[in-house]
Amino acid sequence: MRRALATMVTVLLLAGCTPAPVESRPLPAVTVQDRTNSDGTSAPVADPIYPAYGNPSLDVLHYGLALTWAPQPRTLTGTATIRLRAVSAVPQIRLDFSAAYGIQSLSVDGAAATGRITDGDLVVDHPLAAGAVTTLGVSYAGTPATVPMPSHRGDVEPLGLTVTPDGDLWTMQEPYGASTWYPANDQPSDKALYDIAVTVPDGWSAIASGTPGPASGGTFHYSSTYPVASYLTTLAVGRYTKTELTGPHGLPITLWTRTASDAATLDSLGRLPEYVQWLEDRFGPYPFPSTGAVLVPSASAMETQQMMTIGAPVLKDSATASDVLLHELAHQWFGDAVGPSTWQDVWLNEGWATYLEQLHRAGSDPAAMDRWERAARSADADLRHRLGPPGHPKADSFAENNVYLCPALMLHQLRKALGDREFFALGRAWSAAHTGTAQDRAAFVTFVNHRTGRDFTSLIDAWLDSPTTPS
Ligand SMILES: [Zn+2]
Repeated sequence: MRRALATMVTVLLLAGCTPAPVESRPLPAVTVQDRTNSDGTSAPVADPIYPAYGNPSLDVLHYGLALTWAPQPRTLTGTATIRLRAVSAVPQIRLDFSAAYGIQSLSVDGAAATGRITDGDLVVDHPLAAGAVTTLGVSYAGTPATVPMPSHRGDVEPLGLTVTPDGDLWTMQEPYGASTWYPANDQPSDKALYDIAVTVPDGWSAIASGTPGPASGGTFHYSSTYPVASYLTTLAVGRYTKTELTGPHGLPITLWTRTASDAATLDSLGRLPEYVQWLEDRFGPYPFPSTGAVLVPSASAMETQQMMTIGAPVLKDSATASDVLLHELAHQWFGDAVGPSTWQDVWLNEGWATYLEQLHRAGSDPAAMDRWERAARSADADLRHRLGPPGHPKADSFAENNVYLCPALMLHQLRKALGDREFFALGRAWSAAHTGTAQDRAAFVTFVNHRTGRDFTSLIDAWLDSPTTPS
Protein backbone atom coordinates (compact mmCIF):
# COMPACT_ATOMS: atom_id res chain seq x y z
CA MET A 1 0.00 0.00 0.00
CA ARG A 2 1.19 3.51 -0.65
CA ARG A 3 2.27 5.65 2.27
CA ALA A 4 -0.12 8.05 3.93
CA LEU A 5 0.28 11.57 2.61
CA ALA A 6 0.94 13.34 5.91
CA THR A 7 4.65 12.77 6.45
CA MET A 8 6.02 11.67 3.10
CA VAL A 9 9.75 12.28 3.03
CA THR A 10 10.74 13.01 -0.50
CA VAL A 11 12.50 16.27 0.28
CA LEU A 12 15.96 16.48 -1.19
CA LEU A 13 18.10 18.44 1.23
CA LEU A 14 21.81 19.25 1.47
CA ALA A 15 24.35 17.17 -0.36
CA GLY A 16 26.36 14.69 1.72
CA CYS A 17 28.91 11.94 1.37
CA THR A 18 28.23 8.71 -0.51
CA PRO A 19 28.58 5.22 0.96
CA ALA A 20 32.12 3.87 0.81
CA PRO A 21 32.61 1.10 -1.76
CA VAL A 22 32.71 -2.36 -0.25
CA GLU A 23 35.05 -5.03 -1.53
CA SER A 24 33.21 -7.76 -3.38
CA ARG A 25 33.46 -11.39 -2.35
CA PRO A 26 31.66 -14.60 -3.33
CA LEU A 27 28.08 -14.89 -2.07
CA PRO A 28 26.63 -18.14 -0.75
CA ALA A 29 24.32 -20.00 -3.10
CA VAL A 30 20.59 -19.72 -2.49
CA THR A 31 18.14 -22.52 -2.98
CA VAL A 32 15.27 -21.20 -5.07
CA GLN A 33 12.15 -23.29 -4.66
CA ASP A 34 10.04 -23.76 -7.74
CA ARG A 35 6.55 -22.62 -6.79
CA THR A 36 5.02 -22.98 -10.24
CA ASN A 37 3.60 -26.32 -9.17
CA SER A 38 2.46 -25.14 -5.75
CA ASP A 39 -0.71 -26.77 -4.44
CA GLY A 40 -1.38 -23.77 -2.20
CA THR A 41 -0.10 -25.36 1.01
CA SER A 42 0.81 -22.79 3.66
CA ALA A 43 1.74 -22.73 7.33
CA PRO A 44 -1.05 -20.57 8.84
CA VAL A 45 -0.47 -18.79 12.13
CA ALA A 46 -2.66 -16.70 14.44
CA ASP A 47 -2.36 -12.96 13.96
CA PRO A 48 -1.14 -11.12 17.08
CA ILE A 49 -2.44 -7.75 15.82
CA TYR A 50 -5.82 -8.76 14.33
CA PRO A 51 -6.67 -12.09 16.04
CA ALA A 52 -10.34 -11.93 14.97
CA TYR A 53 -9.23 -12.60 11.37
CA GLY A 54 -7.78 -15.87 10.11
CA ASN A 55 -8.01 -19.41 11.38
CA PRO A 56 -4.62 -21.03 11.99
CA SER A 57 -6.26 -24.47 12.18
CA LEU A 58 -7.18 -24.35 8.49
CA ASP A 59 -5.05 -23.99 5.37
CA VAL A 60 -6.98 -23.04 2.24
CA LEU A 61 -5.30 -24.57 -0.82
CA HIS A 62 -7.53 -23.22 -3.58
CA TYR A 63 -10.41 -20.79 -3.96
CA GLY A 64 -12.70 -21.29 -6.96
CA LEU A 65 -14.96 -18.24 -7.12
CA ALA A 66 -17.84 -17.91 -9.58
CA LEU A 67 -19.37 -14.48 -9.04
CA THR A 68 -22.14 -12.54 -10.74
CA TRP A 69 -22.64 -8.81 -10.24
CA ALA A 70 -26.03 -7.18 -10.84
CA PRO A 71 -25.59 -3.36 -10.53
CA GLN A 72 -29.35 -3.14 -10.07
CA PRO A 73 -30.31 -4.27 -7.45
CA ARG A 74 -26.67 -4.20 -6.27
CA THR A 75 -26.52 -7.93 -5.68
CA LEU A 76 -23.40 -10.06 -5.68
CA THR A 77 -24.22 -13.71 -6.18
CA GLY A 78 -21.41 -16.15 -5.61
CA THR A 79 -20.43 -19.77 -5.47
CA ALA A 80 -17.17 -20.43 -3.65
CA THR A 81 -15.59 -23.85 -4.03
CA ILE A 82 -12.85 -23.95 -1.42
CA ARG A 83 -10.36 -26.75 -1.12
CA LEU A 84 -8.84 -26.71 2.33
CA ARG A 85 -6.68 -28.74 4.68
CA ALA A 86 -7.14 -29.09 8.42
CA VAL A 87 -3.82 -28.22 10.04
CA SER A 88 -5.18 -29.58 13.32
CA ALA A 89 -8.45 -31.31 14.21
CA VAL A 90 -11.41 -28.89 14.22
CA PRO A 91 -14.99 -29.36 15.45
CA GLN A 92 -16.31 -27.04 12.69
CA ILE A 93 -15.04 -25.40 9.52
CA ARG A 94 -14.67 -21.69 10.29
CA LEU A 95 -13.66 -18.99 7.78
CA ASP A 96 -14.02 -15.21 7.78
CA PHE A 97 -17.11 -14.03 5.90
CA SER A 98 -19.31 -10.96 5.86
CA ALA A 99 -22.77 -11.09 7.40
CA ALA A 100 -23.96 -8.98 4.45
CA TYR A 101 -24.61 -12.22 2.56
CA GLY A 102 -27.33 -14.79 2.87
CA ILE A 103 -26.22 -18.40 2.53
CA GLN A 104 -28.17 -20.26 -0.16
CA SER A 105 -26.48 -23.63 0.18
CA LEU A 106 -23.52 -25.31 1.84
CA SER A 107 -21.78 -28.56 1.00
CA VAL A 108 -18.77 -30.53 2.19
CA ASP A 109 -17.27 -32.88 -0.39
CA GLY A 110 -20.54 -32.62 -2.32
CA ALA A 111 -22.83 -33.54 0.59
CA ALA A 112 -25.25 -30.93 1.91
CA ALA A 113 -24.09 -29.29 5.13
CA THR A 114 -25.51 -26.86 7.66
CA GLY A 115 -23.94 -23.70 8.96
CA ARG A 116 -24.33 -19.98 9.56
CA ILE A 117 -22.55 -16.63 9.53
CA THR A 118 -21.86 -15.43 13.04
CA ASP A 119 -19.47 -12.77 14.41
CA GLY A 120 -17.84 -12.28 11.01
CA ASP A 121 -17.29 -16.01 10.49
CA LEU A 122 -18.89 -18.61 8.27
CA VAL A 123 -19.27 -21.64 10.53
CA VAL A 124 -20.00 -24.98 8.87
CA ASP A 125 -21.08 -27.86 11.09
CA HIS A 126 -18.55 -30.39 9.94
CA PRO A 127 -15.58 -31.65 11.98
CA LEU A 128 -12.26 -32.37 10.31
CA ALA A 129 -9.45 -34.63 11.49
CA ALA A 130 -5.92 -33.24 11.47
CA GLY A 131 -4.54 -33.47 7.95
CA ALA A 132 -7.94 -33.98 6.31
CA VAL A 133 -8.38 -32.29 2.94
CA THR A 134 -11.92 -31.37 1.97
CA THR A 135 -13.89 -29.25 -0.48
CA LEU A 136 -16.32 -26.73 0.94
CA GLY A 137 -19.05 -25.37 -1.32
CA VAL A 138 -20.77 -22.08 -0.42
CA SER A 139 -23.48 -20.38 -2.47
CA TYR A 140 -24.41 -16.89 -1.31
CA ALA A 141 -25.99 -13.61 -2.34
CA GLY A 142 -26.23 -10.10 -0.95
CA THR A 143 -25.16 -6.47 -1.23
CA PRO A 144 -21.49 -6.05 -0.33
CA ALA A 145 -20.73 -4.09 2.84
CA THR A 146 -17.36 -2.64 3.86
CA VAL A 147 -15.69 -2.80 7.26
CA PRO A 148 -13.85 0.06 9.03
CA MET A 149 -10.11 0.40 8.50
CA PRO A 150 -8.20 0.27 11.79
CA SER A 151 -6.08 3.33 11.11
CA HIS A 152 -5.79 7.08 11.52
CA ARG A 153 -4.14 7.64 8.13
CA GLY A 154 -5.16 10.77 6.29
CA ASP A 155 -6.36 8.72 3.31
CA VAL A 156 -8.23 6.18 5.44
CA GLU A 157 -11.18 4.52 3.68
CA PRO A 158 -13.44 1.62 4.58
CA LEU A 159 -12.02 -1.81 3.73
CA GLY A 160 -13.44 -4.36 1.36
CA LEU A 161 -15.74 -4.54 -1.60
CA THR A 162 -17.21 -1.10 -2.21
CA VAL A 163 -20.24 -0.30 -4.38
CA THR A 164 -20.13 3.12 -6.07
CA PRO A 165 -23.28 5.19 -6.71
CA ASP A 166 -23.05 4.06 -10.37
CA GLY A 167 -23.06 0.40 -9.33
CA ASP A 168 -19.34 -0.16 -9.96
CA LEU A 169 -17.31 -2.34 -7.62
CA TRP A 170 -13.79 -1.94 -6.27
CA THR A 171 -11.89 -3.09 -3.22
CA MET A 172 -8.86 -2.41 -1.08
CA GLN A 173 -8.49 -4.91 1.74
CA GLU A 174 -5.28 -4.60 3.66
CA PRO A 175 -5.06 -5.81 6.42
CA TYR A 176 -8.38 -7.65 5.89
CA GLY A 177 -11.58 -7.37 3.91
CA ALA A 178 -11.39 -10.11 1.27
CA SER A 179 -14.09 -11.68 3.41
CA THR A 180 -16.43 -8.87 2.27
CA TRP A 181 -16.73 -10.70 -1.08
CA TYR A 182 -15.88 -14.37 -0.46
CA PRO A 183 -15.41 -16.72 2.49
CA ALA A 184 -11.67 -16.48 3.24
CA ASN A 185 -8.98 -17.38 5.67
CA ASP A 186 -8.36 -13.64 5.77
CA GLN A 187 -4.86 -13.50 7.26
CA PRO A 188 -1.60 -13.24 5.29
CA SER A 189 0.02 -16.52 6.38
CA ASP A 190 -2.54 -18.59 4.46
CA LYS A 191 -1.71 -18.15 0.79
CA ALA A 192 -3.74 -20.07 -1.76
CA LEU A 193 -4.28 -20.54 -5.48
CA TYR A 194 -7.30 -18.92 -7.15
CA ASP A 195 -9.59 -19.27 -10.13
CA ILE A 196 -11.97 -16.34 -10.33
CA ALA A 197 -14.82 -16.04 -12.85
CA VAL A 198 -16.97 -12.91 -12.76
CA THR A 199 -20.10 -12.37 -14.83
CA VAL A 200 -21.18 -8.77 -15.46
CA PRO A 201 -23.76 -7.03 -17.67
CA ASP A 202 -23.15 -6.32 -21.35
CA GLY A 203 -20.63 -3.54 -21.87
CA TRP A 204 -19.19 -3.95 -18.39
CA SER A 205 -15.84 -5.51 -17.48
CA ALA A 206 -14.64 -7.43 -14.46
CA ILE A 207 -11.01 -7.24 -13.37
CA ALA A 208 -9.40 -9.45 -10.74
CA SER A 209 -5.99 -10.44 -9.42
CA GLY A 210 -4.14 -13.17 -11.31
CA THR A 211 -3.42 -13.99 -14.93
CA PRO A 212 -6.23 -12.93 -17.28
CA GLY A 213 -7.92 -15.75 -19.14
CA PRO A 214 -10.39 -15.56 -21.99
CA ALA A 215 -13.54 -13.46 -21.53
CA SER A 216 -16.59 -15.19 -22.93
CA GLY A 217 -20.00 -13.60 -23.01
CA GLY A 218 -20.06 -11.39 -19.97
CA THR A 219 -17.78 -13.65 -17.95
CA PHE A 220 -14.17 -12.70 -17.19
CA HIS A 221 -11.65 -15.28 -15.94
CA TYR A 222 -8.53 -14.85 -13.82
CA SER A 223 -6.21 -17.52 -12.50
CA SER A 224 -3.49 -17.38 -9.84
CA THR A 225 -1.12 -20.30 -10.14
CA TYR A 226 1.28 -18.69 -7.66
CA PRO A 227 0.01 -18.57 -4.06
CA VAL A 228 -1.76 -15.34 -3.07
CA ALA A 229 -2.57 -13.92 0.37
CA SER A 230 -6.24 -12.90 0.63
CA TYR A 231 -5.39 -9.20 1.15
CA LEU A 232 -3.61 -9.26 -2.23
CA THR A 233 -6.65 -10.32 -4.22
CA THR A 234 -8.69 -7.67 -5.99
CA LEU A 235 -11.99 -7.26 -7.82
CA ALA A 236 -13.23 -4.29 -9.84
CA VAL A 237 -16.32 -4.07 -12.00
CA GLY A 238 -17.38 -1.19 -14.23
CA ARG A 239 -17.47 0.14 -17.77
CA TYR A 240 -13.73 -0.18 -18.23
CA THR A 241 -11.47 0.29 -21.24
CA LYS A 242 -8.59 -2.13 -21.63
CA THR A 243 -5.11 -1.07 -22.79
CA GLU A 244 -2.41 -3.67 -23.35
CA LEU A 245 1.33 -3.06 -23.11
CA THR A 246 4.32 -5.33 -23.29
CA GLY A 247 7.02 -5.22 -20.64
CA PRO A 248 10.54 -6.65 -20.56
CA HIS A 249 10.94 -10.13 -22.14
CA GLY A 250 7.34 -9.97 -23.36
CA LEU A 251 5.70 -9.54 -19.92
CA PRO A 252 1.99 -8.84 -20.58
CA ILE A 253 0.78 -5.62 -18.89
CA THR A 254 -2.94 -4.85 -18.84
CA LEU A 255 -4.29 -1.43 -17.86
CA TRP A 256 -7.94 -0.84 -17.05
CA THR A 257 -9.29 2.72 -17.06
CA ARG A 258 -12.85 3.81 -16.52
CA THR A 259 -13.23 7.51 -17.16
CA ALA A 260 -11.76 10.32 -19.24
CA SER A 261 -9.72 11.47 -16.25
CA ASP A 262 -8.48 7.87 -15.81
CA ALA A 263 -7.41 7.91 -19.46
CA ALA A 264 -5.32 11.02 -18.77
CA THR A 265 -3.13 8.86 -16.52
CA LEU A 266 -2.17 6.49 -19.34
CA ASP A 267 1.04 8.45 -19.91
CA SER A 268 2.09 7.70 -16.34
CA LEU A 269 0.91 4.09 -16.55
CA GLY A 270 2.78 3.73 -19.84
CA ARG A 271 6.03 3.90 -17.86
CA LEU A 272 5.33 0.58 -16.12
CA PRO A 273 7.63 -1.37 -18.50
CA GLU A 274 10.47 1.00 -17.54
CA TYR A 275 9.78 0.44 -13.83
CA VAL A 276 9.66 -3.35 -14.28
CA GLN A 277 13.04 -3.14 -16.04
CA TRP A 278 14.52 -1.01 -13.24
CA LEU A 279 13.42 -3.56 -10.65
CA GLU A 280 14.48 -6.56 -12.74
CA ASP A 281 17.96 -5.05 -13.18
CA ARG A 282 18.35 -5.21 -9.41
CA PHE A 283 16.16 -8.08 -8.22
CA GLY A 284 15.83 -10.49 -11.10
CA PRO A 285 12.81 -11.46 -13.18
CA TYR A 286 9.37 -10.13 -12.32
CA PRO A 287 7.96 -12.95 -10.17
CA PHE A 288 4.62 -13.62 -11.95
CA PRO A 289 3.34 -14.31 -15.50
CA SER A 290 1.64 -10.91 -15.95
CA THR A 291 1.12 -7.52 -14.38
CA GLY A 292 -1.21 -4.57 -14.75
CA ALA A 293 -3.18 -1.86 -13.04
CA VAL A 294 -6.86 -1.20 -12.55
CA LEU A 295 -7.91 2.35 -11.71
CA VAL A 296 -10.49 2.81 -8.98
CA PRO A 297 -12.01 5.79 -7.15
CA SER A 298 -9.75 5.49 -4.08
CA ALA A 299 -7.33 7.87 -2.38
CA SER A 300 -4.75 5.09 -2.05
CA ALA A 301 -2.99 2.41 -4.09
CA MET A 302 -2.48 -1.28 -3.43
CA GLU A 303 -0.04 -3.93 -4.64
CA THR A 304 -2.70 -6.54 -5.39
CA GLN A 305 -0.99 -9.51 -7.01
CA GLN A 306 -0.46 -9.30 -10.77
CA MET A 307 -3.08 -6.51 -10.98
CA MET A 308 -2.34 -3.42 -8.92
CA THR A 309 -5.36 -1.48 -7.64
CA ILE A 310 -4.58 2.20 -8.08
CA GLY A 311 -6.64 5.15 -6.90
CA ALA A 312 -6.93 7.41 -9.93
CA PRO A 313 -6.25 10.62 -7.91
CA VAL A 314 -2.78 9.42 -6.87
CA LEU A 315 -1.68 9.43 -10.52
CA LYS A 316 -2.68 13.06 -11.14
CA ASP A 317 0.79 14.41 -10.51
CA SER A 318 3.44 12.67 -12.65
CA ALA A 319 6.17 12.65 -9.97
CA THR A 320 3.82 11.12 -7.40
CA ALA A 321 2.61 8.68 -10.04
CA SER A 322 6.17 7.53 -10.65
CA ASP A 323 6.77 7.00 -6.91
CA VAL A 324 3.48 5.17 -6.37
CA LEU A 325 3.77 2.87 -9.39
CA LEU A 326 7.37 1.98 -8.57
CA HIS A 327 6.33 1.34 -4.96
CA GLU A 328 3.41 -0.96 -5.81
CA LEU A 329 5.43 -2.77 -8.46
CA ALA A 330 8.33 -3.28 -6.01
CA HIS A 331 5.83 -4.99 -3.71
CA GLN A 332 5.39 -7.74 -6.30
CA TRP A 333 8.89 -8.92 -5.25
CA PHE A 334 8.64 -7.67 -1.65
CA GLY A 335 5.18 -8.30 -0.19
CA ASP A 336 3.54 -10.45 -2.86
CA ALA A 337 6.12 -13.08 -3.91
CA VAL A 338 7.20 -13.18 -0.26
CA GLY A 339 5.03 -11.49 2.34
CA PRO A 340 4.73 -11.27 6.11
CA SER A 341 3.10 -14.13 8.00
CA THR A 342 1.45 -11.68 10.42
CA TRP A 343 0.70 -7.95 10.51
CA GLN A 344 3.39 -7.59 13.15
CA ASP A 345 5.85 -7.70 10.24
CA VAL A 346 4.15 -5.37 7.76
CA TRP A 347 7.47 -3.45 7.86
CA LEU A 348 8.85 -6.31 5.77
CA ASN A 349 6.60 -5.16 2.92
CA GLU A 350 6.66 -1.43 3.35
CA GLY A 351 10.32 -1.00 4.26
CA TRP A 352 11.44 -2.50 0.95
CA ALA A 353 8.85 -0.75 -1.21
CA THR A 354 9.54 2.63 0.42
CA TYR A 355 13.29 2.24 0.15
CA LEU A 356 13.20 1.16 -3.50
CA GLU A 357 10.90 4.07 -4.29
CA GLN A 358 13.55 6.39 -2.86
CA LEU A 359 16.45 4.69 -4.65
CA HIS A 360 14.57 4.96 -7.92
CA ARG A 361 13.78 8.60 -7.27
CA ALA A 362 17.43 9.36 -6.44
CA GLY A 363 18.43 7.99 -9.85
CA SER A 364 22.08 8.53 -10.67
CA ASP A 365 22.61 11.13 -7.94
CA PRO A 366 24.14 9.18 -5.03
CA ALA A 367 24.08 12.28 -2.79
CA ALA A 368 20.30 12.32 -3.05
CA MET A 369 20.12 9.29 -0.75
CA ASP A 370 22.18 11.09 1.88
CA ARG A 371 19.80 14.03 1.72
CA TRP A 372 16.88 11.61 1.98
CA GLU A 373 18.45 9.91 5.00
CA ARG A 374 18.78 13.20 6.88
CA ALA A 375 15.17 14.14 6.25
CA ALA A 376 13.99 10.61 6.98
CA ARG A 377 15.89 10.42 10.28
CA SER A 378 14.20 13.59 11.41
CA ALA A 379 10.78 12.20 10.51
CA ASP A 380 11.70 8.81 12.02
CA ALA A 381 12.17 10.34 15.45
CA ASP A 382 8.72 11.88 15.37
CA LEU A 383 7.10 8.69 14.03
CA ARG A 384 8.60 6.50 16.76
CA HIS A 385 7.49 9.02 19.37
CA ARG A 386 3.91 9.18 18.06
CA LEU A 387 3.33 5.65 16.76
CA GLY A 388 6.01 3.49 18.34
CA PRO A 389 8.73 1.46 16.62
CA PRO A 390 7.88 -0.30 13.33
CA GLY A 391 8.32 -3.82 14.73
CA HIS A 392 5.45 -3.23 17.15
CA PRO A 393 2.60 -1.67 15.16
CA LYS A 394 -0.53 -0.71 17.06
CA ALA A 395 -3.76 -2.44 16.07
CA ASP A 396 -5.61 0.87 15.70
CA SER A 397 -2.85 2.45 13.59
CA PHE A 398 -2.54 0.14 10.61
CA ALA A 399 -0.05 1.14 7.89
CA GLU A 400 0.94 4.42 9.46
CA ASN A 401 4.20 5.95 8.26
CA ASN A 402 6.32 4.34 11.00
CA VAL A 403 6.12 0.95 9.20
CA TYR A 404 7.27 2.60 5.95
CA LEU A 405 9.99 5.07 6.73
CA CYS A 406 11.68 3.53 9.78
CA PRO A 407 12.38 0.11 8.16
CA ALA A 408 13.42 1.88 4.93
CA LEU A 409 16.11 3.58 7.01
CA MET A 410 17.13 0.15 8.36
CA LEU A 411 17.53 -1.14 4.78
CA HIS A 412 19.57 1.99 3.99
CA GLN A 413 22.00 1.05 6.79
CA LEU A 414 22.22 -2.47 5.37
CA ARG A 415 22.96 -1.12 1.89
CA LYS A 416 25.63 1.23 3.22
CA ALA A 417 27.25 -1.69 5.05
CA LEU A 418 27.05 -4.09 2.10
CA GLY A 419 27.41 -1.94 -0.98
CA ASP A 420 25.08 -2.02 -3.95
CA ARG A 421 26.14 -5.34 -5.41
CA GLU A 422 25.69 -7.35 -2.24
CA PHE A 423 22.58 -5.45 -1.13
CA PHE A 424 20.69 -6.01 -4.38
CA ALA A 425 21.84 -9.64 -4.48
CA LEU A 426 20.52 -10.04 -0.94
CA GLY A 427 17.11 -8.64 -1.90
CA ARG A 428 16.98 -10.75 -5.04
CA ALA A 429 17.85 -13.90 -3.10
CA TRP A 430 15.39 -13.14 -0.29
CA SER A 431 12.50 -12.77 -2.72
CA ALA A 432 13.45 -15.62 -5.05
CA ALA A 433 14.17 -18.12 -2.28
CA HIS A 434 10.85 -17.45 -0.55
CA THR A 435 8.48 -16.88 -3.46
CA GLY A 436 5.04 -18.24 -2.62
CA THR A 437 5.58 -18.15 1.14
CA ALA A 438 4.95 -15.93 4.14
CA GLN A 439 7.90 -15.12 6.42
CA ASP A 440 8.69 -13.22 9.61
CA ARG A 441 11.43 -11.14 11.20
CA ALA A 442 13.32 -14.15 12.54
CA ALA A 443 13.49 -15.66 9.05
CA PHE A 444 14.69 -12.36 7.58
CA VAL A 445 17.42 -11.87 10.17
CA THR A 446 18.61 -15.47 9.77
CA PHE A 447 18.64 -15.08 6.00
CA VAL A 448 20.54 -11.78 6.06
CA ASN A 449 23.15 -13.14 8.46
CA HIS A 450 23.63 -16.37 6.50
CA ARG A 451 23.74 -14.63 3.17
CA THR A 452 26.22 -11.93 4.18
CA GLY A 453 28.31 -13.97 6.60
CA ARG A 454 27.96 -11.09 9.07
CA ASP A 455 25.76 -10.56 12.12
CA PHE A 456 23.21 -7.81 11.48
CA THR A 457 20.83 -8.98 14.23
CA SER A 458 21.38 -6.03 16.55
CA LEU A 459 21.21 -3.50 13.70
CA ILE A 460 17.90 -4.86 12.41
CA ASP A 461 16.42 -5.27 15.89
CA ALA A 462 17.43 -1.75 16.89
CA TRP A 463 15.69 -0.22 13.87
CA LEU A 464 12.57 -2.33 14.47
CA ASP A 465 12.35 -2.11 18.25
CA SER A 466 13.90 1.13 19.45
CA PRO A 467 11.58 3.85 20.81
CA THR A 468 14.10 6.43 19.50
CA THR A 469 16.01 6.67 16.22
CA PRO A 470 19.11 4.42 16.33
CA SER A 471 22.35 6.34 15.93
ZN1 LIG B 1 3.37 -0.25 0.18
